[in-house]
Amino acid sequence: MKIGCPTEIKPQEFRVGLTPNAAREAVENGHEVIVQAGAGIGAGFSDDDYIAAGAAIIDTAEEIFASADMIVKVKEPQAVERKMLREGQLLFTYLHLAPDPEQTKDLLASGCTAIAYETVTDRNGGLPLLAPMSEVAGRLAPQVGAYTLQKANGGRGVLMGGVPGVGPAKVVVIGGGVVGTHAARIAAGMGADVTVLDRSLPRLRYLDDVFGGTFNTGYSSAGLLAEHLTEADMVIGAVLIPGAEAPKLVRREQFATMKPGAVLVDVAIDQGGCFETSRATTHADPIYEVDGIMHYCVANMPGAVARTSTIALGNATMPFMLALANKGWKKACADDPHLLEGLNVHAGQLTYYAVGKALGIDV
Ligand code: NAD
Repeated sequence: MKIGCPTEIKPQEFRVGLTPNAAREAVENGHEVIVQAGAGIGAGFSDDDYIAAGAAIIDTAEEIFASADMIVKVKEPQAVERKMLREGQLLFTYLHLAPDPEQTKDLLASGCTAIAYETVTDRNGGLPLLAPMSEVAGRLAPQVGAYTLQKANGGRGVLMGGVPGVGPAKVVVIGGGVVGTHAARIAAGMGADVTVLDRSLPRLRYLDDVFGGTFNTGYSSAGLLAEHLTEADMVIGAVLIPGAEAPKLVRREQFATMKPGAVLVDVAIDQGGCFETSRATTHADPIYEVDGIMHYCVANMPGAVARTSTIALGNATMPFMLALANKGWKKACADDPHLLEGLNVHAGQLTYYAVGKALGIDV
């Protein structure tokens, strides 16, 4: 199979779909790998690294889309890329279709087969291709939130860990999955007073067993969240309902009950966001204010630490990428029901129920 890896074109996205190590594995499995010139630069990989791995360097995205059987990317294809997708071509990348009707329409029109990283599952009910990026975004959230809390950035002027004689910042994390757990660990490590709210009692039990003493847990009801909002210096939104738009858990009218300059970090923004006032921002202009409350809503947070993220993502995607290349998507998905869960679009048909439900399209 010919595997193509174009340069990411979403603003401030520095990751790349294939690492040189992944390219090498594909080549050793008998495949041809073509990588766009400069695709790895943002993650610290030169064209020579790919050439040494056995890949060929190609000048333009057009040439890659025109000849590759499988396109491996990081972010959802942008409008100009969607125009280049063709019938029968396999696309393996993050898609996040539920809040994105335009992209869904274009993918259906292209006739391609699209397997979304974020809906591939594992035998424990986890999302193995979302997990590494969730780990990164979770660990980054308190870091960017702490920066936003600084006075010059519009925040309350509160130090995460406090100092002797001055209490620490209060951080509420909504959603105690992968993002939430990593965010809570780092925030607690910075010395903040952290509470994680989740709806899953088994998850709360797990968190209490493993992290009791490091951070507190609470059952995520509207009432308990409202109580925590009045005290919070930072709220990290980390909920997920797989494949569906995020529920809006904090309403604008509640800002009047919060401390001026408190910070909302909406990690769930890539699923539409879990605060009413969230709108996606970029690394170039990440922070905005609504009614005195600061918002950080970057939809591709892991791009900020592109090298760590690229290698972490490559570790997770490589076995699936090789299965798709070695067997073709039909056999690979027939052999692995967890990979089949990733199939979102095939030959003009939407094939993922939660996306269809969110967009009102028959599946
Ligand atoms: P996860 O499935 O591991 O965890 C989600 C948690 O949310 C689960 O424990 C679930 O029980 C909980 N939850 C669901 N509804 C809830 C509610 N009403 N109140 C409290 N908790 C609730 O998912 P994850 O990997 O941690 O991802 C979380 C979000 O972060 C997703 O939307 C994901 O797409 C997003 N994400 C964003 C970025 C970014 O760059 N912005 C990067 C990675 C992940």
